[in-house]
Order: sequence, then C-alpha cells, then structure tokens
Amino acid sequence: MRCATNSVHFMPAPGESASGFLIHLSRSFSAELAPLLSALLSDPQAVASAVYSPMLAGPISDLVGASVRELLPMFAAPHSKANYLRIGEFVLRYGQINQSTRRVAPETFADDIGAGRRPYHRLSWSIAALRIDPDTSHRLIDTCDRCGRRLRWMNTFDVSQCGECTRRLWLCKGDSAAPDAYDVFVGELFNSTINVRKAARNQLPRRIRAWIEGDILDLIEVIGAVICLANQGVELPPNRSEGIEIVLAGESAIRRCLRRPLGQAMCSKDRLAPALASSKVFARLRRAPSRLVSEYLMSLVI
Ligand SMILES: [Zn+2]
Repeated sequence: MRCATNSVHFMPAPGESASGFLIHLSRSFSAELAPLLSALLSDPQAVASAVYSPMLAGPISDLVGASVRELLPMFAAPHSKANYLRIGEFVLRYGQINQSTRRVAPETFADDIGAGRRPYHRLSWSIAALRIDPDTSHRLIDTCDRCGRRLRWMNTFDVSQCGECTRRLWLCKGDSAAPDAYDVFVGELFNSTINVRKAARNQLPRRIRAWIEGDILDLIEVIGAVICLANQGVELPPNRSEGIEIVLAGESAIRRCLRRPLGQAMCSKDRLAPALASSKVFARLRRAPSRLVSEYLMSLVI
C-alpha cells in the first residue's frame, strides 16, 4: 500500500520523533488509509510508545514510501547493553526516556513556523534530563499555559496544539528564567553538533569523558543526591545544578563532596554520627543505576 506521489511530503523532518510523525500521518492521510493507521495506533498508549518500536518502520515505510533506513532515526533503538537504548548518537537507560507526557518547546515551534516548515516533535525532547531544546536552548514545557492541563499523547491531534483546549502552543509564554548550569551542560551534551558535544565532554574529568550519556547523567544525579545528604542529613531530591558544578570542577572536588557528610558528622557530639554518615553515602553510591558510576565514585571515596 504505497503512496509514491506523497512520499516526499511524508518524509520525517530532521530529528522528528516517531510519535510526532504518526500524529502528522494520522492528520494527513485520506480516509481509505485510516484502517492501517488505526492498526499502528492500536491503543491510547501506542502513540507515546511508538518511539520505542523501531519495528514500526517497516509498516510506516509501506504507508509513506520513505525507506526503512530513512525512518529509523525517529526511533529509540535497542542497545547491546541490557536496559539501555540508543537515540541517534546517544545511549541512555530506558528510565531516562520520558514519554508519559508530551514535552514540547513552544519557541522551537515558533521557529519552525517562521522558517515556513510544519512544527514537529523532536525525538530528543523525550530525554527526561533535558529541560531545554538542545539545539535552540528554548525551554521545554509539558503543561498548557491556558488550560493548565498536562500535554498528553493520547488526546493529541496536532503536536503543536494542546489536546484539551486547542491552544496553539507556539504562542505559549516561555519561562523567562535563564537555564542553570545543569540545563546548559545537558543541552550541550545532547546538541546535534559534534563539536558542541565534544566541548561539553572536554570539561569533564578525563576518566569519564568517553562515558555514554546515560552514565554521565547518573553520575551527576548521584553527586547531587550526596550534596543533599551533606546539607540536610536526610535524603532530598538530587541537586543536579550543584552536582554538575562539582563534576566540572574535577575529581578533587568530587572527592571532597563525597567526604563532606563524614567530615560534618565528625564534628557531631553523637559518637555514632560518623558511622551513620558514612553508611548513608556508601548506600547512595551502591544504589547508582550504573555499576560503572558506582565503582568510579567508590574509587574516589575509599
Ligand atoms: Zn490547553
């Protein structure tokens, strides 16, 4: 069931996600092709989870005429490392991809419209750590500024509009706050230009420069969590912004950060405090999602 005459029109845009492209197809194809699209989009979660399903490239190829090779970049692909997947150049844990909401960058949509192209959803926007579009630095949102509802895949008829109130999302007022150190670094780590990515990695301690992106994010997360242990004595959400500053300051700074809870406990009148602080830090390092991250941090603190 090929549509050769439509094949150029229905090529995915650079960096487009499979979920966004399927929404585009569902709006663009004529009624006689609706049953095939219905089969592809068989349940409410199917659109959101399409990015994890490269096996859809074949059926979509039959539908639009583009080759499977041209369609595969829209998907997250399995990786040889268990529990990890590849998004374009990047390798992340499954848990680091978030399709539970539809995250979009309104100002990037505005850029699309200004450039005369259809506004489209980028696959990189499903990387949970990103709070900005990695190429434009425009803020990502997951909530409509008019109706206050979460942007979801299951009621989406146009990726650039709110599924609840039809708000044209490119008109949303952006967050005027400047990106923090974490946002800037992660944006550069996932930038589509290799030289930008290299420059970001070159700021890291030499031993971790070649790590996959998922492990670098986990390292920042664990250090951000240890900072909170040191500051509060209880476990709070990780302070990722301070975490990246410590990572960028080098291994001596990371080592000092990991030892800080113990140093503070040594000043306590409670004789058990040092042992307790030490066990909390080690427990947090052992809980790192990646063994590589856990072993690296252990090597600095022991
Ligand atoms: Zn809305």
